[in-house]
Amino acid sequence: MTVDLFSDTQTRPTPGMREAMARAEVGDEQSGSDPTTNALCARVADLLGMEDAVFMPSGTMCNLAAILVQTRAGDEIIVDDQSHIYNTEAAGAAAIGGVSVRPLPTRNGLYTPEQAEAAIRAPQRTAPRSALISVEQTTSFSGGSIWELDTMRAIRDLARDRGLKAHIDGARLLNAVAATGIPARTYAEGFDSAWIDLSKGLGCPVGAVLCGTRDFVTEAWRWKYRLGGAMRQSGVLAAAGLYALDHHLDQLAEDNANARRLREGLEGAPGLAFEPEAGQSNILSFSVAGLGVPAAAFAEACRAQGVRVRAIGEQIRATTHLDVDRAGIARAVAVIRAQADAFARNPGSRRD
Ligand SMILES: *Cc1c(COP(=O)(O)O)cnc(C)c1O
Repeated sequence: MTVDLFSDTQTRPTPGMREAMARAEVGDEQSGSDPTTNALCARVADLLGMEDAVFMPSGTMCNLAAILVQTRAGDEIIVDDQSHIYNTEAAGAAAIGGVSVRPLPTRNGLYTPEQAEAAIRAPQRTAPRSALISVEQTTSFSGGSIWELDTMRAIRDLARDRGLKAHIDGARLLNAVAATGIPARTYAEGFDSAWIDLSKGLGCPVGAVLCGTRDFVTEAWRWKYRLGGAMRQSGVLAAAGLYALDHHLDQLAEDNANARRLREGLEGAPGLAFEPEAGQSNILSFSVAGLGVPAAAFAEACRAQGVRVRAIGEQIRATTHLDVDRAGIARAVAVIRAQADAFARNPGSRRD
């Protein structure tokens, strides 16, 4: 069987989760009367210390709705240059909200409060209005690096002082919580909007939950409906989320530990280079540039040996999750090392 480190979206619902879904009490979500969805929203709002929450079909819709509620056409939002919002949401903010995106250059997805401050525009007739700033905790395309709480707070306070909204793309916020022991509500405190994904490390088939004030959620609901995200008996899906919050939080710590084990196992392999923050949570990125082989070719060679990783630019990204155990990590270490050895020994095998 393939050890699938392509993404933590590759998890399959466990038998226990399927059972919880089958037994879910349901109603009509669109009219606010699906009891299981309401319970999930209350649970996540409490987890993040927010007033209210709305269930969404995806994290992408959480980001989009948060942007649409907190900006107007012609505004500008500030994100990091590796962010999901900037790179992989099909320019939703621009296409639907008429909002431009200002990506801050970063090495590993983490920008500084000084960079943020320099990017906020003074009000001017000729300039876009800086309206919202987003922090991605943990970073997705930058090796799962974790934002320091103090840095997040400095950015949050700066946003408040300068009249911007502050948003957390918390697709993997709970992986940061598992790694640092800092509660989710502490990370989210004072932010205007924040969300968590259910379909990543938590192992659910579908869904994400977006949180903010009651007024924010009222408006986010309007966008959810407009975008076609309103559901009916969504309790079947929400039940998976509740099940995950009851049973899968400990798993996130194990996933983080597995990413660390993977890094430890690969360190010193020829041609592989790691950023200092790589493997802080459940994502490990490393460069294969030292082998002179394209990342896609390296990933393909691993795949042929039963280990699936993802090539992103010049980097290889391996993501741990509940369907990969310690034995799978040991196998991944052996296969990835063997490929590194082979490419290093035999440059003729490079497919570039
Ligand atoms: C996966 C992801 C998203 C989007 O979530 P989907 O549920 O896949 O739409 C947004 N931001 C980050 C950081 C992610 O990793």
